[in-house]
Amino acid sequence: MIKYRLLPHYLAAIISLWLMGFTQTSAGELPLFDAHVHYNEDIWQAIPTDDAIKRLKKQGIRRAIVSSTPANGAIKLFKQDSGFVIPFLRPYRTPDDRRDWYKNPDILKYVRSQLKSFDYRGLGEFHLFGSQVNTPVMKGILALARKKNLILLAHSDHETIDALLTAAPNLTVIWAHGGFDVDVNIVAKKLKQNRNLYIELSFREGITEQGVLTPSWRELFLTSPSRFLVGTDTYTGQRWLALPELADHYQGWLKQLPGNIAEAIAYKNGERIAAQKPVRNE
Ligand SMILES: [Zn+2]
Repeated sequence: MIKYRLLPHYLAAIISLWLMGFTQTSAGELPLFDAHVHYNEDIWQAIPTDDAIKRLKKQGIRRAIVSSTPANGAIKLFKQDSGFVIPFLRPYRTPDDRRDWYKNPDILKYVRSQLKSFDYRGLGEFHLFGSQVNTPVMKGILALARKKNLILLAHSDHETIDALLTAAPNLTVIWAHGGFDVDVNIVAKKLKQNRNLYIELSFREGITEQGVLTPSWRELFLTSPSRFLVGTDTYTGQRWLALPELADHYQGWLKQLPGNIAEAIAYKNGERIAAQKPVRNE
């Protein structure tokens, strides 16, 4: 008799586990949208394209924004799995370009020809600080970004983020690393003032303390759940090897948030950005 009375509970549990299987990778783990992958030349040999995609997918990552130095790394990975990779143009031909790209007329030419030859979805990750945003080269690059409706992925201080939002008011701007250690109140204020701003969370300090969400970040996630993205920032071979720990870190604090908010940050915000329509080449 007792057995029969319990049966519906077992069935409900089995059905809900079965339903969970559609959205979750394994017990309690959320799928992830990775907003910060690099596939740079120095790891192409050690981690070929098929292996790179496999490593990302193994961590429950189901789509990724990918950029590379030089740019064809992102294209190689896109050709390997076009449903998985969202290709961004990094404005560096070699690692050295990072130093002066924002004032180098050759980079403006490079960006123009890259954008003409391939339908990138965004520009970045680029490094830009202070008054570097005001050069003629940057004006030209941002004009191209506006014309193509590109998403910007900027590794910048918070003043430069403001300048980018002003220079390209209709573009989506992803702030890589959320400014690292910029005061959480500044991040909160910027999100309130700019609907187009998103925060990518790799290397962002202060989110957890001994694995537990800090009160200030928890509150920010609860007030602006639609504005955060997770990222692994695979800028070295070592970071590629650390993918399991990086994914675990995100899963560890995501599960401390209400389910719908954790889902938004884990992958739904990224999917929404990825659905934005770029201006394609003819
Ligand atoms: Zn990066």
